[in-house]
Formats: sequence, structure tokens, C-alpha cells
Amino acid sequence: MAQRKLNKQQQKRIREQQDRTRKNISKSTTAQSSETPHHEGLVIQHHGKQAIVETADGQLLACTIRQNLGSIVSGDKVVYQQNQDTHQDVVLAVKERSSVLARPDFRRKPKPFAANIDQIVIVAAPEPELSEHLLDRYLVVLESLSLEGIIVINKTDILTKSTLAIIEKQMASYQAIGYPVLYTSVKSSSGMDALRNILKGKRSILVGQSGVGKSSLINELLPDLDLRVGALSQANHGKHTTSSSTLYHLPFIGDIIDSPGIRDFALWHISEQTIASGFAEFKPYLGQCRFHNCRHINEPECAIKKACEEGRISSRRLRSYQDMLNEIDND
Ligand code: GDP
Ligand code: ZN
Repeated sequence: MAQRKLNKQQQKRIREQQDRTRKNISKSTTAQSSETPHHEGLVIQHHGKQAIVETADGQLLACTIRQNLGSIVSGDKVVYQQNQDTHQDVVLAVKERSSVLARPDFRRKPKPFAANIDQIVIVAAPEPELSEHLLDRYLVVLESLSLEGIIVINKTDILTKSTLAIIEKQMASYQAIGYPVLYTSVKSSSGMDALRNILKGKRSILVGQSGVGKSSLINELLPDLDLRVGALSQANHGKHTTSSSTLYHLPFIGDIIDSPGIRDFALWHISEQTIASGFAEFKPYLGQCRFHNCRHINEPECAIKKACEEGRISSRRLRSYQDMLNEIDND
């Protein structure tokens, strides 16, 4: 219960934060000064009171962030001002976000780390062992944010005929729900073109358990990663900042936001309602149970359980949903 109450508070905080951000934007656009023009830029990286902003012509500027602006994260579109006298560039406002990924900080307050993402690429592999429950958790998060989801099974080079057959069977149920599944191997370079295709024109973030090959995939997708890290470090006055969430442009149209410390996020600040609606195949049946507050566990005349009995919802996914409810109850 405590978790659900907190979620409401957290949602309220996010709403208040967004209102403040919008007010800041209107303030900054009405208070245009004639001497110091305002520009729009893209946040590549942020740390503390500083953000690395990419200008329209591709320069990287280390900007300070105007006080009380709230958090600014990779992927944010911002309004900044260059001061010719002090050479101190300042971020004045954040544009409205189409999406934001957040993790709870030590006070359980959501702390954004990436903005304006289109899709989440969930990477899994035969090693470390593939967890369908963890996959389901990631899917709940992306459904709650109305983002596209893609499942990538990496390290196909170590699959045997029989382990491939098991994974293909598991993946068939995700494909049936509508999630694309790609098979890649960084080692043998197979499946990389299909991955590039699905990233084209989108801003994506790669998530998944540690050790599945996310860094290896990113290195493969960004052949000039070293150069970019160097340019970022230069913009940062020599500081090394690869542990920060960073936006990288792909060699084709599209971006990747890499968040090294936060790649294994799964079920943060998510309410019971969000969990049910995070199972895409439940949607046609939600609201059809006998009780409007049915939790689809052991209530009579439950439309979800009925759909499961009739084979329209997989019993494994229903169990996964019920396990998630238990997890938040026990939290
Ligand atoms: P991350 O923690 O998800 O970023 O995973 P890494 O990219 O660090 O990879 C973890 C380990 O898996 C490393 O030893 C990689 O060399 C290895 N690895 C990554 N991709 C593949 C692959 O396609 N096949 C094989 N066999 N190993 C891989
Ligand atoms: Zn029900």
C-alpha cells in the first residue's frame, strides 16, 4: 500500500515540475533581451549544475543551468543564451518533453535521466540467463510511457539448436502481443543491419541486465565512439564523464541515449493500475471484470482470467502480472 500512495505523490510532483517548466519557458520567451539572443539546443549530457548542449550547427557548449529550472537531462530541448562578455552560456528553459525516463533517488523521488525517447530496446541474451519476468517488467515501464518496445536477443553465436528453439518459443509469445524480436551477435556481426533499421529515425535507449552485451552493441553501432567521448571531454574542460547519461547521434538518422549506471532499471514507481495496463494483451479485457477494482487474482467473473482459460492470454504472462502485484504489495 505504501508504494501505491507514494506513486500518487510522485506523479503529483512530476506534474508540478512540468507546470513549473512550462512557466519557465513562457517567462523566457516573453523576456527576450534584444542584445543577447536566445537559441535552441539539445542536451547531450548533464552533471550537477552543468549541461553539455549541442547547438544547431553541431558545436558542444558547456552551459550552466539557470537556478530553479528543475532537472535537465540528455535528450531535452532547451533554450540557451550565450554571454559574449563572460563567455558563460546559460540554459534558460526546457521545452516540453514528449517522454521522460526517471529513476527514484534515495528519497524515492523520481529523478529523470533521459527525455524525448521514442523507443526502448530491451537487450537479453542466453547468458546471463534470460528472465521473462524481467522482460515483462521492462515492457510495463515502456507501456506506461507509451513508448515503442523492441526485444533484442544478443549473443546468438553461443546458441545451440536446442537453446535457440527454447528462446524462439519464448519469443513467439512476445511477437504475438506485437513486440518485434531481433536476433543479434556482436561477435559474428549477424543481425546488426536489422537492428540499425529499427533504430533509424528514432531516439532509443538500450536497457537490460548487466552482461547481455549493451556496451558491445553500442560500440558496434557507433564506430567513432572514442572521437565523440573525446569531444565531450573537451567540452567538459577535460573532465571524463562517460558514466553520465549521454546522447549519441547514430551514423544514420537517429540517436541513442546511453545511461551506464541506470541500464537495469525495471519496476520503479509504478502503480497497480499501470501494471495491469502495462500488459498490452490485457487491454481489450480491462473494465470487463465483474468488479471494477478487480485485481485479476482470485476474483469471480474475471475477464482476464477467462481470456487466459480460453487461451487468449498466456498463463505465464498472467502469472508474471500477479507476481508483480505481489512485489509492490511487499515493497
Ligand atoms: P553489458 O553489461 O550489457 O554492457 O554487456 P557488455 O557489452 O559489457 O558484454 C558483456 C560480455 O559479453 C563481454 O565479455 C562481451 O565481450 C560479451 N559479448 C557481448 N556481445 C556478445 C556476443 O554477441 N556474443 C558473445 N559470445 N559475447 C558477447
Ligand atoms: Zn479481473
